[in-house]
Amino acid sequence: MSSRENVPHLSPETLVVSGGRPAKAPDAPVNVPVVLSSTFHAGGPVAYGRTSNPTWEALEDVVGTLEGGRALAFSSGMGAVSAVLDLVPNGGTVVVSSHSYSGVAARLRDLEADGRVVVKLVSVQDAATVATECMGADLLWVETPTNPAMEVCDLAAVAAAARRLGVMTVCDNTFAGPMLQRPIEHGIDVVLHSATKSLAGHSDVLLGIVVTTDDAYYDRLLRTRTLVGSIPGPFEAWLALRGLRTLALRVKQSQASALQLAIRLATHPAVTAVRYPGLPDDPGHEIATRQMDGYGALVAFETVGGAATAEAFCERVELVTHATSLGGVETLVERRRRWPEERPDIPETLIRLSVGIEDVEDLWADLDQALTSIL
Ligand SMILES: *Cc1c(COP(=O)(O)O)cnc(C)c1O
Repeated sequence: MSSRENVPHLSPETLVVSGGRPAKAPDAPVNVPVVLSSTFHAGGPVAYGRTSNPTWEALEDVVGTLEGGRALAFSSGMGAVSAVLDLVPNGGTVVVSSHSYSGVAARLRDLEADGRVVVKLVSVQDAATVATECMGADLLWVETPTNPAMEVCDLAAVAAAARRLGVMTVCDNTFAGPMLQRPIEHGIDVVLHSATKSLAGHSDVLLGIVVTTDDAYYDRLLRTRTLVGSIPGPFEAWLALRGLRTLALRVKQSQASALQLAIRLATHPAVTAVRYPGLPDDPGHEIATRQMDGYGALVAFETVGGAATAEAFCERVELVTHATSLGGVETLVERRRRWPEERPDIPETLIRLSVGIEDVEDLWADLDQALTSIL
């Protein structure tokens, strides 16, 4: 397996292609195989299929190198989330983005109801308040841009404040992904991905990944994964690695189209608000420009009318797919408040648009007809 030490100078665009390959030798395979074995010959570090697997390791190698740490793959994004939340001591305090992913918010509510943790919600757009709330806390959990409000967090500012206070920091980097944003570079301790989304990129696999530079966290996360059993299947890991090979190209196409669509949505009579950090007047634009290598493939917008009008828009798209999830090659729309788990301060008509790699004019023609139909 190529290791990080061998390729430290390569750009992310190259790493997604060249990382995680078997060593070059005559007739060695170019791709890591799907290793379907629950047990391994005695004497090595793997030993059993719940501890490790060569197919996962190839994926972990690439994502770890991209993010700048050591990676562990999990059975899903939420499997990764749960393992990281297990690092919080009993009765510990978690400071979290008020608009974090609905599954993360729901899990934290359950843990708080059980008396396991205390939760403090903060707006990640306000780095000064995040710093104040971190006093006496155990974990700071941020997302940027947030799902689905598209708020941007100044990672360097909050990571520095948390570090001064001895608070562990986690960034859910699912929305931006490692091509556009590498939180460890900004001082974050643990980076997490729902690899189900853009890393795998084809809406055909569920998988999570955690990356950290801290050996103690790594060891504890590995132990949790092994003992809880939240391990990925080898075939899922292989699919994710296969998808990852084209991440750079997919991100390039999707975010170019996302900017075009955001600009056009902003002046559409059926749209009342747009959030996309690539728009010069977006509140997150300045920080995103400093912190990210692009603005990503996700756009949030609000339609005229109420929930029923926004649902009607989702029903009327034809090329675009009305479905949850994001980061795939196909463009998806969804009214987030259709989920009871979504936070009540997310507007009823907020549509999350995940831009895929189709032709942007075809996408606009479809969005425009569906929007015009609700006027
Ligand atoms: C989807 C998602 C998750 C959860 O990941 P799963 O793979 O669905 O378990 C976590 N965080 C964010 C930001 C997500 O979009």
